[in-house]
Amino acid sequence: MKQKTPTVLPGDKLAVSEEFLPGPHAYDDSGLIRALAVGSVQRDMKNMEISVKPAAKANLLKVGDRIVGQVEVAQSSSAGVKLYYVNGQPTDKDFSGSLSLRSGRPGRGGPRGPPVKLGDIVRCRIFSLLNGIIHLSINEDEMGVVYALCGNCGKPLLRGGNRAKCDECGNVEERKLAADFGRSPIQP
Ligand SMILES: [Zn+2]
Repeated sequence: MKQKTPTVLPGDKLAVSEEFLPGPHAYDDSGLIRALAVGSVQRDMKNMEISVKPAAKANLLKVGDRIVGQVEVAQSSSAGVKLYYVNGQPTDKDFSGSLSLRSGRPGRGGPRGPPVKLGDIVRCRIFSLLNGIIHLSINEDEMGVVYALCGNCGKPLLRGGNRAKCDECGNVEERKLAADFGRSPIQP
């Protein structure tokens, strides 16, 4: 029989240590097992272990998820991306991921400059959640910049071959473009 477990808060009593061992996101507080995270209680009757399954991140984001977001910080080695969509669904959670800018493919016609720039809308794959950081990748063809504005005049850039170009002022910019860059509406 499956019981609906209530949400617990950090510090809530889960059990006594004679009954259960503390599992992930639980701790032994002088004989009382308490929650370390907000989430639902999991009881492993085989190992007599009680743990908390965190409510937020673990349920919402997984390795392999596809996200669409906006570059809010751009440095030489990495970019911070604010997540707007997860697997095509809008998210109102305040998640930001980290996109490494050193994993490009040198010598294969990739951009010579940074693959993304501040303000770009990008589609990425979550490839790791190590250390609580959302690590993003744009190596696949469908991943990369899907929408960007001209650094010169601020009009939306269009696709010109492998580059992004501005019809308004003639500016050409290099990015790691998604296969559908320049098409509208944007596919999240
Ligand atoms: Zn322009």
